[in-house]
Amino acid sequence: SKPVRLSVHMHPYGEGRSLLLSHDITALDQAEAMRRDFVANVSHEIRTPLTVLAGFVETLQSLPLKAEDRNRYLDLMSQQAQRMQTLVSDLLTLSRLEGSPLPPSQEWHPVAALMAQCEQDAHDLSALLWGGTQTLSFETHGVAELAGSASELLSAMFNLIGNAIRYSPADKAIVVRWTSTPDGGAIFSVKDQGQGIAPEHIPRLTERFYRVDRSRSRETGGTGLGLAIVKHVSQRHGAELSIESAPGKGSCFSISFPPQRVHQQTTLPTATER
Ligand code: ADP
Repeated sequence: SKPVRLSVHMHPYGEGRSLLLSHDITALDQAEAMRRDFVANVSHEIRTPLTVLAGFVETLQSLPLKAEDRNRYLDLMSQQAQRMQTLVSDLLTLSRLEGSPLPPSQEWHPVAALMAQCEQDAHDLSALLWGGTQTLSFETHGVAELAGSASELLSAMFNLIGNAIRYSPADKAIVVRWTSTPDGGAIFSVKDQGQGIAPEHIPRLTERFYRVDRSRSRETGGTGLGLAIVKHVSQRHGAELSIESAPGKGSCFSISFPPQRVHQQTTLPTATER
């Protein structure tokens, strides 16, 4: 009720008063509706794997099963448990990012190390989903180091790479690239030749739990929170996420970092300058 009282105090006259009042109530209603939506979404996302798990537990308890069937059931149960773990871990990441407006620490991280870690994880994920038939390439042009939080940067990079792998068919190429910009900044981009995204969905992709294709996202281990995390990490690093995509052709997700976050390869200060 506080914001409403505040606006009455500041605008005590005539029609403006009721206008502002209703405006603020609408904003409060919207915030409350968003909170309710969020809780409903989280509950739904947790309930689905829980229902499956509970069903398998019941089957295991009530039926005498052959060892191979029992093991198959246990594998499926383990997958569902993994899904809930990923969801909770993404939720915690997101709430940590939203809860602290402070910019991340100004430590410098070599781009080569960030890329090496993503490369390993990307090959593992692609092998798991597509049996290693996707072509993944990793390129760095001119960018040496980045300032910020290494874990956040890795999480943003890998969320985009993971999406490209998950939303592309088996035999298509994915290009992951760091490029320096003429103003001394840097762009991280992930380009795929996957299914692409229709223009009406693009503005909503960074909303929590927004998915174009729910079943595809679930099948490949998505939580619907990845791009919300990428957006927050970008904002905290003074960077900007942009999305270009054409249905049936593919997508390019990129994050552009301002010069103060970037050491270029040629301008890398020597040990004594630092
Ligand atoms: P999810 O866990 O569902 O992948 P994200 O927040 O990472 O959640 O992405 C939101 C949605 O955006 C996805 O469900 C998918 O529909 C779409 N999307 C993201 N990346 C791509 C991509 N590279 N190609 C096609 N669609 C994508």
